[in-house]
Amino acid sequence: MTGKVYICGAGPGDPKLMTVRAMELLTSCDVVLYDRLVGQAVIDQIPAKSEKVYVGRAVGDPTTHQKRTNELMVKYTKQGKSVLRLKGGDPFIFGRGAEEAEYLLKFGIGFEIIPGITSAIASPAYAGIPLTHRRYSSSVAIVTGHEGAEKEDSLVSVNWKKLPEAVDTIVVLMGIGQIEQISADLIKGGLKGSTKIAIVESGTTAKQRVVTGTLKNAAKAIDKHQVRPPAIIIIGKVAGLHKKLDWFSSVNAD
Ligand code: SAH
Repeated sequence: MTGKVYICGAGPGDPKLMTVRAMELLTSCDVVLYDRLVGQAVIDQIPAKSEKVYVGRAVGDPTTHQKRTNELMVKYTKQGKSVLRLKGGDPFIFGRGAEEAEYLLKFGIGFEIIPGITSAIASPAYAGIPLTHRRYSSSVAIVTGHEGAEKEDSLVSVNWKKLPEAVDTIVVLMGIGQIEQISADLIKGGLKGSTKIAIVESGTTAKQRVVTGTLKNAAKAIDKHQVRPPAIIIIGKVAGLHKKLDWFSSVNAD
């Protein structure tokens, strides 16, 4: 009998933001294949009886490690095992979840998709930044800032210059290394240099840090505060609410 693959979001880092379904699968699946961004506190909860395999980056370049992950999913399911394919945040938000499902389809292997709380909404929430607000924002775009390494197989790109006229809040994932170009393009597209931004590093974890600034000085702020991935950038008026609505720094400090 062929096993099944559960392509599942692990949430943004805080293990309490795992869904009930994800927890259920974490304790019942035979094998767990997990990514770099799955929090250590989540990994610690995998029972000793399960096999756990790290399949994140560092195993090779993006193509090699994706190939290995695909092959492992097929290998284990052919052995009749249930496989939990655990990904940071949500599997369908820059998580290659769909590509893995497409791969499984080719082999006739059954799968389920379990959404997770994406870092794109959880990190702002833990920084006291609402992505929409009746006074400041009625639209949000979640975009990737990193089209470099993925470019060869990415068929679509972000239209930075059009975003400013289309949406009020922009959330950039994988963008801290490219912030200079991103800011320049958004300013060309019509955003003011004084537009508020907030950067959330290691959101929802004990290491969460929030750096605020403006579009014009974003690159300097990232450099000055030595911001490291994983981090997201929130651009727009709502970023200015951090100071007022921040609640996590005090809880986290307890
Ligand atoms: N599927 C994931 C995103 C994967 S892309 C999700 O839904 O969250 C990886 C990017 O996600 C990182 O470069 C960073 O921009 C963002 N990210 C993931 N976890 C994060 C966290 N805890 N804090 C801030 N950003 C995070």
